[in-house]
Amino acid sequence: MSPLGPAETGAGYATIAACHRPESATVTRRLIVVLALAATLAAACALTWRIAWQHGIGTLRQQAAVRADRTASALKSTLDRYESLSYLLATHPFVTDALEHPAPESLARANRYLEDANRHTHATVTYVIRADGLCIAASNWDRGDSFVGSAYRFRPYFMDAMKGEVGRFFGIGTVSHVPGYFISEPVYRDGKIIGAAVVKLNLEWFPGIDASEPLLVADEHGVVFLSSVPQWKYRTVRPLSQAVATSIDETWQYARQPITLLPMTTLRSLGADAQIVRLGDGRLGPYYLAMRRSLSVPAWQQITMAPITSVFEDARNATAAVGFGFVSVCLLVFYWRTRRARLREMIRGRELLQRAYAELNLRVEERTADLSEANARLQTEVSERTRAESELRAAHDELVQTSKLAALGQMAAGITHELNQPLAALRAFSDNTRVLLERGDQSSARENLEAIAALTERMGKITNQLKLFVGRAQPRNARAGVPRALRNVLNVLQKRLQTVAVEVSLLDADAGVGAVRVPLDLSADLPGLTVYCDDLRLEQVLINLIGNALDAVAMVPEPRIAIDVEVADASLVVTVHDNGLGISAEALPRLFEPFFTTKEMGQGLGLGLAIASSITRDCGGSLSARNGPQGGAAFVLTLRRVRVPAMQLGTPSA
Ligand code: ADP
Repeated sequence: MSPLGPAETGAGYATIAACHRPESATVTRRLIVVLALAATLAAACALTWRIAWQHGIGTLRQQAAVRADRTASALKSTLDRYESLSYLLATHPFVTDALEHPAPESLARANRYLEDANRHTHATVTYVIRADGLCIAASNWDRGDSFVGSAYRFRPYFMDAMKGEVGRFFGIGTVSHVPGYFISEPVYRDGKIIGAAVVKLNLEWFPGIDASEPLLVADEHGVVFLSSVPQWKYRTVRPLSQAVATSIDETWQYARQPITLLPMTTLRSLGADAQIVRLGDGRLGPYYLAMRRSLSVPAWQQITMAPITSVFEDARNATAAVGFGFVSVCLLVFYWRTRRARLREMIRGRELLQRAYAELNLRVEERTADLSEANARLQTEVSERTRAESELRAAHDELVQTSKLAALGQMAAGITHELNQPLAALRAFSDNTRVLLERGDQSSARENLEAIAALTERMGKITNQLKLFVGRAQPRNARAGVPRALRNVLNVLQKRLQTVAVEVSLLDADAGVGAVRVPLDLSADLPGLTVYCDDLRLEQVLINLIGNALDAVAMVPEPRIAIDVEVADASLVVTVHDNGLGISAEALPRLFEPFFTTKEMGQGLGLGLAIASSITRDCGGSLSARNGPQGGAAFVLTLRRVRVPAMQLGTPSA
């Protein structure tokens, strides 16, 4: 059965597989969402940029318009004021007198008047030009660069005045080489123009000229003559025609300054008076909002420049903020959705786990019940087996005892049989001795007594054998000499062995290369042939093995028994071979079973080998049986050997 329930094995796996299968619909949906978000982000950024840009430009435009209007009106009012001054000069009697009667006193008076008026009105220079173009009086009459004596016939403002018009002209001074604005007024005498009164103004000081927000004033031809940026001065905002260029040159308007085009590119027009322009040749040149104002008289154009870097920056910052905000919101939403999905997944997982856990618990309980039942059964079985084992052990002990008694009975019968003959002889000898003594035949009587002594000694030997079957189990570390045990056993079985060829040999594996086989002298108790087993029990085992061998060779024409004692490193092996019929294949596995016997009724109990095997095990050894290669059986008794130095083994050399 599967460790998982049907839900997990079938439908459960199907659900998991469905969850993990890459579905093209999901991928497409995600792609669409991402694309839609990207498009929304782009649109939001574009809209923000546009709004911020328009707002910024609108604000800047308003501010620039205010500034442009203020500057234009300030310039206009300044020019108007000085226009009044030129009129006042032209109508002053000192001026008309000096022009009409250029006597030294009247010229001096005119000079002082001009000087005084110049000082009070803060004009740059005021001066009077005669009808032929010569300057006769000037506010700077007493200075080294005095205009007095200079000819101004070619100057446009003089020519305008002489035509009865107000002359207005911006140009670089021919004497001072200082640029200025010239306003001229015709001087009348009796309705006739006799000269011109001129006011020169230096407009460089003009307020509102600030390098951060540049201001340009261009003349009617587009030549910039006033600029807060020195490099832009004497450059044109539009290309000059050839005629205009020649006139500028001829009138010394800009003192032969090279007049080139100002590198100003209009990027976008925001109406008639406002444009976004770039100054400089490079694409990265500064960008400005240019506000144009026209001063009708004179026909100048004023351009105020407001840098739009701040508008760019504000629009960029606003766009970045909106973009960042949008992305943050998207990420937050994504995070929130992912988290919600994970939570849902966790809850589902926990539910599955709980279900699996409950099922597992159920199964464990079932199994535990099965196990408890099996355990109880096992315990019953164990106790039954223990009981059977103890019963078996008791039966076994009893059998051992029975076997001993049976063997004792056999032994008693044998001994009785053995003792009967010497007893009868003893009786005969004692009767005979009494007769001999009565006769006085001392020497014959002594011989008889010696024969009696020999008989009693033999009888003593026979009764000694009884001790073999008496005695209790000895501790496991009791020791017994194998030659002595063999000697006793062979003595006991002496009578039965008379018709059998018995050979006892020693095989010493430690003696050199290969094993050496020599006849074993049983009269010497060699210390190297001592094993861990008590002597009586060892003799009991050997008597059984040799007894069985004798039984096996009983019907054989040339009966032979060979006993090999083989010494190995830690063990000693006694093998009893015979040339009997051997052991049948059916009997071989059952030899050591109690009561297994092939002998006829009354001949054997089938306990000998079982007891011998049990004794051997008790002594820490083993007993096995096999058939010999040339027929007959071989019983191999292996016992633990008591280790002694090799020289004490006493193995005779081959
Ligand atoms: P028992 O001698 O009373 O039958 P054992 O336990 O000594 O009981 O022997 C069991 C059986 O083992 C014997 O009946 C015999 O068949 C077989 N057996 C023992 N020794 C030999 C031997 N040397 N050769 C052939 N068979 C043997």
